[in-house]
Amino acid sequence: MTDLNTDIALRLEKIRGEIHDAVAKAGRTPDSTELVAVSKQKPVAAIRSAAAAGQVDFAENYLQEALEKIQQLSDLALCWHFIGPIQSNKTRLIAENFDWVHTVDRVRIAQRLNDQRPSQRPPVNICIQVNLQHEQTKSGIEPDQVTPLVEQVMAMPRLRLRGLMAIPRPAEDFAEQVAVFRRLTTLRDTVNRFVLETQPDMPAMDVLSMGMTNDMQAAIQAGSTHVRIGTAIFGERSNK
Ligand SMILES: *Cc1c(COP(=O)(O)O)cnc(C)c1O
Repeated sequence: MTDLNTDIALRLEKIRGEIHDAVAKAGRTPDSTELVAVSKQKPVAAIRSAAAAGQVDFAENYLQEALEKIQQLSDLALCWHFIGPIQSNKTRLIAENFDWVHTVDRVRIAQRLNDQRPSQRPPVNICIQVNLQHEQTKSGIEPDQVTPLVEQVMAMPRLRLRGLMAIPRPAEDFAEQVAVFRRLTTLRDTVNRFVLETQPDMPAMDVLSMGMTNDMQAAIQAGSTHVRIGTAIFGERSNK
């Protein structure tokens, strides 16, 4: 237990240093990228260790597993992010138990989350997942469909639209990774400009949820505000 604590604390410190350096190297405002710890397939004890080292934001992508952990960790003031594919029969439990949902990619899911968000909780933070590379097998909405979905989500009072999220294909080349992530940054800025012109009272999207263990530096270079990091904090996962 103590070993796990030390191990995870050291890994977190290392990652935070790398994020800090990448933000500085990109010439961006200090602390403009937040670390979301992806704890999927990792035990509650590992999450407790990370929390003891100051980590507040955690992400899960399997609902059932997440609900058990949220329950067992309810003594801690953690912020929970849902980052998995969403089936419509799962929206109620997601709306009831999470602070953020990064993987909204259709209006039906958004509408259900809005309708099912408990009234005693604040609106749930939402990112729209974009399929940047038109991959058949991936979730996410096509880039040219983002604006209409943004307009619909913005009109839902129990959702707080924060930004866009993407999971690009792994790429070897740093410049190529940056170029792909920049497409999400540009898309966010373009949609923000459109919304400002048509609905000046709506808040702009401030979030870009992009970057994982293997492409975090490139994502930060391209403007990521939230990197979602699992392996570098908790170690390798066994393949499901
Ligand atoms: C698993 C997962 C991550 C974390 O991936 P690592 O490579 O372990 O950092 C980030 N985002 C999503 C959506 C994931 O499913």
